[in-house]
Amino acid sequence: MSLPVVAIVGRPNVGKSTIFNRIAGERIAIVEDKPGITRDRIYCRGEWNGRSFHLIDTGGLEFGGDDEMLEHIRHQAELAIEEAHVILFLVDGQAGMTATDEEVARLLHRSNKPVVVGVNKVDHPSHREVIYDFYQMGFGDVFPISALHGTGTGDLLDRIVELFPDLEEEEYDEDTIRVCLIGRPNVGKSSLVNAILGEERVIVSPVAGTTRDAIDTPFERDGQKYVLIDTAGMRKKGRVYETTEKYSVLRALKAIERSDVVLVVLDGERGIAEQDKRIAGYAHEAGRASIFVVNKWDAVEKDDKTMDRFRREIRDEFHFMDYAPSLFVSAKTKRRVHTILPMVNEVAEQHAMRVSTSVLNEVLTDAVLTTPPPSDKGKRLRILYGTQVSVKPPTFVLFVNDPELAHFSYQRYLENRLREAFGFHGTPIRLLLRKRN
Ligand code: GDP
Ligand code: GDP
Repeated sequence: MSLPVVAIVGRPNVGKSTIFNRIAGERIAIVEDKPGITRDRIYCRGEWNGRSFHLIDTGGLEFGGDDEMLEHIRHQAELAIEEAHVILFLVDGQAGMTATDEEVARLLHRSNKPVVVGVNKVDHPSHREVIYDFYQMGFGDVFPISALHGTGTGDLLDRIVELFPDLEEEEYDEDTIRVCLIGRPNVGKSSLVNAILGEERVIVSPVAGTTRDAIDTPFERDGQKYVLIDTAGMRKKGRVYETTEKYSVLRALKAIERSDVVLVVLDGERGIAEQDKRIAGYAHEAGRASIFVVNKWDAVEKDDKTMDRFRREIRDEFHFMDYAPSLFVSAKTKRRVHTILPMVNEVAEQHAMRVSTSVLNEVLTDAVLTTPPPSDKGKRLRILYGTQVSVKPPTFVLFVNDPELAHFSYQRYLENRLREAFGFHGTPIRLLLRKRN
């Protein structure tokens, strides 16, 4: 399913990144967060009242060349109008309305996207009257907030969530495996799509995906249906933001959301970059199965240790994803490209795997007997029982005496024991702890 996109637009210094961090932070407090994930300060997956969404701080995008402020904001607004479902237009309540705010308002009015105005830096209730000026901009919804203190953000988010459109449901049936390729520009995503499809006989003609950011190619092999979601092939010609690397991240996020299996394409020749870690982190957080596909292996000078060395590097750099297998391929020579789909089948199966409650509890009991939870100030975690509550990714609820006692390292230990017992190759798994006396 696609997620709604919320874009924050506004002048420099109005508090865009402060509100972004606050929304990201609130989410991090309630959803699992593993150390080692490199976070982007521009994109995050937010959650409010049970609705997930993508949040973008357009102020953090760099549009090569134009350092003039107004021009920069124009590009932000253009991106927001094009890509977002709801625009959060942030203004500064202490500075009052400025000519630039009015200019941005004019740009936003030209779109038919819903706009919510957040008047920031209203740190004290007695300052609330400053918001009335901003009603002149004609957007209807004006919310006083203090990003610094976190006041007012609840009402603001309530309104934003209300404005989310009903996004189209996925048009592919349950037994179709949805696969996307993500990675930095030039790692060879398009070449890989062609190499994978080139091997197939039954190709249905590609269609532009629901989001128009991707080209979907449905095909079938050995009775299994797939759709390849290709983000690289589609370009929005003439858009300034199109050429920025940061923007390609947004497209990757949307594709990840619609996929079961994510092929994280790395450049064997150039090695692993920071951007790779961020993009892979999104696949992990979104709970998708992942495979590292190291491309351009033909161009790498190698001996019999090179592959192991690269594999170790992947383990080190993406240590939060040590469940994901790695393949070393060449889109150019087609070497080992034929191993990709069988691996996709395998991880897709593991991603959708269900284990019985009785076997699960045997494994948990055994894990606790082998290594009991450490005690914390005289108290010790007790696991009463566990049950799998969903698939894609496999998600388990563990009923415990006190969730606070379940430290990260012990959860990690339990996760490893579940993997030893059941596999879950290529897929993240989630443990949710619930209190039960
Ligand atoms: P951006 O350029 O729009 O991303 O703005 P920043 O988030 O970097 O914030 C600019 C400045 O405004 C920083 O010094 C923040 O600490 C400050 N700021 C942000 N939110 C608030 C707020 O709610 N109240 C006050 N008093 N200051 C704020
Ligand atoms: P994308 O931006 O990720 O879609 O990357 P492309 O598929 O457009 O490829 C970028 C460049 O890398 C092109 O010049 C390709 O010819 C080259 N390339 C792609 N795959 C391989 C490969 O397996 N080996 C080598 N040597 N070059 C490749």
